[in-house]
Amino acid sequence: MTFATLGLIEPLLRALETLGYQTPTPVQAQAIPAVLAGRDLMAAAQTGTGKTAGFAVPLLQLLTMEGPKVAANSARALILCPTRELAEQVHASVAEYAQHLPLTTYAVYGGVSINPQMMKLRKGVDILVATPGRLIDLFRQNALKLNQLQTLVLDEADRMLDLGFSEELANIYRMLPKKRQTLLFSATFSDDIRVLAGQMLNDPLSIEVSPRNVAANTVKQWVVPVDKKRKPELFVHLMRKGRWKQVLVFAKTRNGVDALVDKLQGLGINADGIHGDKPQATRQRALDRFKSSEVQILVATDVAARGLDIEDLPLVVNFDLPIVAEDYIHRIGRTGRAGNTGEAISLVCADEVNMLSAIEMLTRQTLTRKMEPDFEPEHRVPDTDASGQVVKKPKKPKKPKTSGGGGKRNLGKWVDSGEVAPAEPSVKPVRKVPVFNTGPRKKK
Ligand code: AMP
Repeated sequence: MTFATLGLIEPLLRALETLGYQTPTPVQAQAIPAVLAGRDLMAAAQTGTGKTAGFAVPLLQLLTMEGPKVAANSARALILCPTRELAEQVHASVAEYAQHLPLTTYAVYGGVSINPQMMKLRKGVDILVATPGRLIDLFRQNALKLNQLQTLVLDEADRMLDLGFSEELANIYRMLPKKRQTLLFSATFSDDIRVLAGQMLNDPLSIEVSPRNVAANTVKQWVVPVDKKRKPELFVHLMRKGRWKQVLVFAKTRNGVDALVDKLQGLGINADGIHGDKPQATRQRALDRFKSSEVQILVATDVAARGLDIEDLPLVVNFDLPIVAEDYIHRIGRTGRAGNTGEAISLVCADEVNMLSAIEMLTRQTLTRKMEPDFEPEHRVPDTDASGQVVKKPKKPKKPKTSGGGGKRNLGKWVDSGEVAPAEPSVKPVRKVPVFNTGPRKKK
């Protein structure tokens, strides 16, 4: 199959050829004809599968071939993304695909001044890429009207709900014309996403290009058990031993990102960090420098790093496991993209055993454990497997503690707190892992 046999017009074929896309990826092969035929879509596609071109290319064709010229302060198609970085990235791809077409494209997001965005929207844009909050601001300030909207794309819809955007999405839904085409893309499909799809989509075609919730099999994954306090030391050791050149590292909290970056920089290692507290321009600069290999190690929280496309990224390290198991799939999806192979290493301490178990259950695999000599943990990480069982050895009774503060909090079920409390080991020999929290998370 070629892009030409999918019925794409010449200016799009030329752009794809320039980008070196020779054959459509599976999601593109399914999505392109369906979008061209005007269908609504509900697509389960992992990151790195080529989903952006899957929706953007046929959308550009429809906008070129059909519909009126864009009116002032209007958009003909809207692509909603969960994060600013993703909005920038999607917009960059859309602009590349549109390079030979007479269409205008633009991206709007928060964290930067709204005035230039309002100015730019005056003439109207054919395709607008936006994060939900800023879109609503622009709409409320009458800088944007949506009555000309033909197509809505929800990209990484699961992440938008995870980030607590369900209210914004409900508001946006009310702003849209009833008659429109809607394309929903999500790497994972929770029940909440299915409810959203039920509201927003009209007789959608379901596309699933890889088994549900299974991590990319081009990524070699393993776990190194280690004591929590020795993680930074182990990271540096593995980095030197493996001569890591370009690594994306995920830490759980903003403080965790800063602490690791400080430690690495203190050792003369070329590292930078991105998280939600940093200004947008700083985040973008760090990312650009990482992409151009000026920065060797980029440490990020999930919020900042979601959906980023970094070409040929060989390695992702989970310095901490994610609080929400589905984020594991997104994190490791940063490597092994578009058919390349990649590695994902997770440094796991005893406190994280429930998270490890939930990840194994979700991805239906037991992750290989590799002990690193001299880093064997004093606090053993209990055995886990894909069934969700955590096998715990009975604990030796401890001497009662006299101090009041600093006691352990029970993790219970997973919550999105700024920092995660260590799990109190159960005295039962076998314990079923609590169901992880799939509900909407607080906006960060
Ligand atoms: P995405 O899943 O949209 O983030 O795309 C992942 C990566 O695959 C991006 O770097 C795209 O440029 C690239 N890509 C998308 N479609 C193709 C294709 N048909 N052939 C080769 N590379 C592609």
